[in-house]
Amino acid sequence: MVELTALALVVLSATAPGVSTGRLLDAATLMFLGVLHTEIAVRAERVRRRVTETPHVDLSSVWTFAGAVLLPPVLATLVAVVVFTHLWWRAWRPRVPVYRQMFSTATVVLACLAAGAVVNYVAPHHVTAGLGAGTGPVALVLALLVYTTINSGLIAGAIAVSSPNPTVTTVLGHWDENALELATLCLGGLTAIVLAINPWLVLFVLPALLVLHRAVLVRQLEEAASTDGKTGLLNAAAWHAYAQREVSRAVRQGGSASLLILDLDHFKSVNDRHGHLAGDEVLAAVAATLRTEVRDNDLVGRFGGEEFVILLPGVDDSDYGSAELRLVADRIRRRVEALSIQMPTPDGPLTISGLTVSVGGAAFGTDGTELTRLLETADSALYSAKRAGRNRVHVGLHSRNEGASGREPGPALHEAESGESPAAG
Ligand code: GH3
Ligand code: MG
Ligand code: MG
Repeated sequence: MVELTALALVVLSATAPGVSTGRLLDAATLMFLGVLHTEIAVRAERVRRRVTETPHVDLSSVWTFAGAVLLPPVLATLVAVVVFTHLWWRAWRPRVPVYRQMFSTATVVLACLAAGAVVNYVAPHHVTAGLGAGTGPVALVLALLVYTTINSGLIAGAIAVSSPNPTVTTVLGHWDENALELATLCLGGLTAIVLAINPWLVLFVLPALLVLHRAVLVRQLEEAASTDGKTGLLNAAAWHAYAQREVSRAVRQGGSASLLILDLDHFKSVNDRHGHLAGDEVLAAVAATLRTEVRDNDLVGRFGGEEFVILLPGVDDSDYGSAELRLVADRIRRRVEALSIQMPTPDGPLTISGLTVSVGGAAFGTDGTELTRLLETADSALYSAKRAGRNRVHVGLHSRNEGASGREPGPALHEAESGESPAAG
C-alpha cells in the first residue's frame, strides 16, 4: 500500500501539471493525517456504521475537502481515494459493499474536482498567497457549498432511487447530519489555510475532529436506543418517557394530551399465511401509515408485537377532546383498511390487503390526566372495540361508540398473488 502510494506520487510528480514538491508534501500530509484519523477513530466509526443504516456524513471529508481546495486535481483525487479506501477497508468493509463504496468515492472525487475548480476560478492567487488572503475566504465558502451540494445531491439521488419509500429525511438526511457535514467542511477549510502556513499546525485539527466523532457516535447511539428497529417508530421505553413529559406539560400548562392504542386485527393469520417476514413488512407499512396520518409532534410508538400507541399533544384551540380524537382515530382506521402492501417473495410478487385495526382512545381531561390512567382507559376501550367485532374505534370507558364503528371484517384477509393470477386483492 505504502509502496504503491509512493510510486504513484513519483509518477505523478513527473507527469502531472502543477505538481511540485511542496504540493506533494501537502498531499502526503493530508493522506497521513486521514489515515491516522481513521486508525484512532476506527472503533467509534465501526459502531457508528452499525447503528445507522445510511449515514450521509463522513468526518474524513475534513481531509478530502482540504485537499480539494489546496491541491491540483490529480493530487486532490489521490488524497480522496486513499483516505476513503483506507476508511472503507478498516471500518466499513463487510457492511458497505464494494459497489457502494466505489459510488461514494466517485461522488467525493467529483465534489473535490468541482470545489477545486471553484477555488481556482475565484482565487487564482491562492497557490502563492494562500487561501487566507484576498478572495481566498470567499472562494472557500463557495467551494464548501459546491462540495456539499454535489456530494449530498448525488447521494440523495442514489437513496431516492434505491429506497422503496423515500421520505425527505431519508433522502436529504436529518438536519443535524447536514450541520455536521458543514462543521466538518469548515474544519477542512481551516486545515487547508493552516497547512499552507505550517504543516505541523494541522495537528491541532485532529483533537477537535476526534471529539466531534465521539459526539456524533453518542447522538446516533441515543437515537438507536430509542427506536424500534422493525418499524422506525419510538420503542416502548422511549415512547413512555416522551409521553410522560408531554402529559406533565399538559397538566402544567393547561393543555391536553390524548391517547390512542391500536392493535391489528387477526394479525396472527397474516403470519400464518405468509410468514413472519411478510408480517414484518406489514408492520412497517402500518407504522408508516400511522406516521403520515398524524402531526410531526405527535408521538407514535410501537408498544410491542402488532400494537401501537399514539399520544396527541394539543394546546388551547387544537386540543383533542373525545370528538376530535374519534375523528383522527377513525381516519387512521380507514387508512389501514385501504392499505395494499406489495412485496417481492421467492414465489413472485405478493399483495396483502384487507387489513383492519381496532382502536381504543382516551381523551385528556374526560378520561384522566395521568399517563397511566389514560393508558388503562385506552386499553379497556381497545378491548371493548375488539369484543364489539374489531375494525372499530372506541373512546373512553362508558362512551357511546356506535358512530365510529366500521364494518365487521370478514374472517379471511384478501390476498392476491399477482405473479400467478391477476385477481385483485
Ligand atoms: P386480535 O384481533 O385479537 O388482535 O388477533 P391477533 O392475531 O392480532 O392477536 P394475537 O395477540 O393473538 O397475536 C398477535 C400476533 O402478532 C402474534 C405474533 O405472531 C404476531 N407478532 C407479534 N410481533 C410480531 C413481529 O414482530 N413480527 C411479526 N411478523 N409478527 C409478530
Ligand atoms: Mg392483534
Ligand atoms: Mg395484540
